[in-house]
Order: sequence, then structure tokens, then C-alpha cells
Amino acid sequence: MIYPEVLDKSIELLKKLPGIGERTAERIALAINEFSKEDVTELATSLVECKNELHPCHVCGALTDKEICRVCDNPLRDKEVICVVENFKDVFTFEKSEAFNGVYHVLNGLISPIDNIGPDDINIASLVNRLNELENVEVIIALRPCIEGDATTMYLKKILEKSSIKISRLPYGIPMGVEIDYLDGVTIDRAMKDRINIS
Ligand SMILES: [Zn+2]
Repeated sequence: MIYPEVLDKSIELLKKLPGIGERTAERIALAINEFSKEDVTELATSLVECKNELHPCHVCGALTDKEICRVCDNPLRDKEVICVVENFKDVFTFEKSEAFNGVYHVLNGLISPIDNIGPDDINIASLVNRLNELENVEVIIALRPCIEGDATTMYLKKILEKSSIKISRLPYGIPMGVEIDYLDGVTIDRAMKDRINIS
């Protein structure tokens, strides 16, 4: 072992981060060690606070430290336009783009028969409950263009099409298999404007 044991432990933990290999983990661990003692403590405390206090919004499933997230709690947001996304990271991506003034619904997964993930394993029932309480609602399905994303979109279309709900999906211009959180604001803004009605 090249590094002292305590440093090696930090490196091993940092390597769990997405896109962080051995060398980057080493650099981050050494850089943090250069921080003042106060800053290191603040960093560690804030990470623990995030872990303890963040949870899904009771309405939409987005990540929040309150009972209801900032979007659901904002009276200026259009509660009758619901953008259905795969995970809470997508909510942040859409919010950063400032391309959308409605609200979200986080499925927390996609239907994937190969992985034994069916409609009951993701947050579809809570979406249906929300929709039952609304009139003149539009659902924008904003899922990754992949087999699982398409299967989930088709399932949602099937269960919602008997109602008067307007259903749209993002256009096919989004590259296949790309994670929503890799899209830039301009692309998201364009995709929202060019959404395709499928109801
Ligand atoms: Zn919410």
C-alpha cells in the first residue's frame, strides 16, 4: 500500500462515485486533505446532513428536505401539466434548463420485464391517484429513449388513454440511450416545445 491507511480509505470511498477512477479519487482525497480543518468538517457534516434530511417529496417524488418540494410548493407552477421522469436527477436537469413551468412526477425506475420490474414496482399508482384529482391535465412523458423508456411510455399511454388526459412525449431527436441529465438546457427547451401528442 502506497498511501497511509486512512487516506487509502478515503480514496476507496471516493472511487464509488460515478466517473471517478483511481487517479481522480487520489487527487480529490489529497486535495480535501489540503482544506482547513473547519472546511473538512463542514464538508463531512453537510454530506451527513444530505443523507439524513433528503427524502422524496410526498407529492411528486423529487428529492427535498421539506415535506413538499420547492416545485410542488410554488403557487406559480402549473399543477395541470405533469412531466413524468425516471428519477429525481432528471427533475434537477429540467429545473436547470428553466424550460418547464409545470410540475413533475418521479417514477423512480422504468418498466423492464428482463429485470423483473413491472408497473407495480415503480411510482405509477401514485401518478394515477394524482391525475384522478385533476381536470384538463397534460402529462408529458420525458423518459430516456431506450427499450425500457419506450415500454414505460407505452404502458402509461395505455392506462391513461381512456381518460381525457392529454398525453405527449419528448421528440425522437434526443439521442438513443442518452441519460436525461446529460442533456443541455437548449436541447431540453427545444424538446419540450417540440413534444409530440400521443393521446
Ligand atoms: Zn414535489
